[in-house]
Amino acid sequence: MEPPEGKNISFLIKERARELGFDLCGFAPSGILSEHESRLKTWCSQGMNGDMAYLARNIEKRINPDFLVPGAKSIIVTGLNYYSERQQGGNGVPVISRYAYGTNYHDVIKEKLDLLIDYIKIQNPEAEARSFVDSAPLLEKAWAKEAGLGWPGRHSILINKSIGSFFFIGIIVVTIRLDYDNPSVEDHCGECRLCIESCPTAAINENRTIDVRKCIAYLTIESKTPATVAQAEKFGGRVFGCDKCQEVCPWNARAKRHTVAEFEMNKELKEMTTEDWLQLTPAKFKELFRKSAIGRRKYHRFMETVELVSKNM
Ligand code: SF4
Ligand code: SF4
Repeated sequence: MEPPEGKNISFLIKERARELGFDLCGFAPSGILSEHESRLKTWCSQGMNGDMAYLARNIEKRINPDFLVPGAKSIIVTGLNYYSERQQGGNGVPVISRYAYGTNYHDVIKEKLDLLIDYIKIQNPEAEARSFVDSAPLLEKAWAKEAGLGWPGRHSILINKSIGSFFFIGIIVVTIRLDYDNPSVEDHCGECRLCIESCPTAAINENRTIDVRKCIAYLTIESKTPATVAQAEKFGGRVFGCDKCQEVCPWNARAKRHTVAEFEMNKELKEMTTEDWLQLTPAKFKELFRKSAIGRRKYHRFMETVELVSKNM
């Protein structure tokens, strides 16, 4: 089959992305994100990556998609809204972050991205492509900005004017040229500093980076060492992630509920009491979180946090 002209394939990819349920889709020309190299190196050298040592490794590879897909020409960036009202927590019940309410987003998005790749290959069988969801080798937020999806807020999370910031970024690196979107260059935070002022642990730096060593999301999900009592006292009952800086952001005031069935929280999880959380057995943990992002955390680490936070609310 003769591949359609660049313009047509760009249009068709965006149309297919919409059909697959993506809320956003933009294209950027591939290239080396050189301006991010020194920023990333400085951030890591200050220890702000905590014990995520992998972030400090191979930075020259992480800024160059050609290492991932030789001959990369374009970066396709998708956004998938996961916003919903708070479904659980409060009154002493441990709180989990919205992004972990349903099925692990990696699986949900990867499947959609791979269907999009199948479609691209039908249009152009010579295209080589790989999909990435929240994976270390790519600077996803930087590419989302390049593809016009939004700007990094003071809390460092990407914000889109239409849907806010509660969305997952998915990426396809591909060897065909597309019609590129204009990068997002404007900063729509204005004078607002609500996220900085509301962060319970003062983890947001003035230069739109996060000191992960202070961030509740890191301390409850990635950290290899338990949080201290002094830290846990500031967690506000959060045991897996933190939405605070996004909750206060005016750009999320009109966020619409997602429409992804897999992101729905099951009834049992919604109704768990503090006692239920504290008595979670390894078998129950596995059953409840087998398909969830929470299941990526080791049981004993997760329970360590549940116990510590419950005692220090
Ligand atoms: S996720 Fe929570 S702790 Fe981390 S920067 Fe945002 S408000 Fe602060
Ligand atoms: S809360 Fe205000 S400063 Fe923070 S990201 Fe939102 S608009 Fe920007």
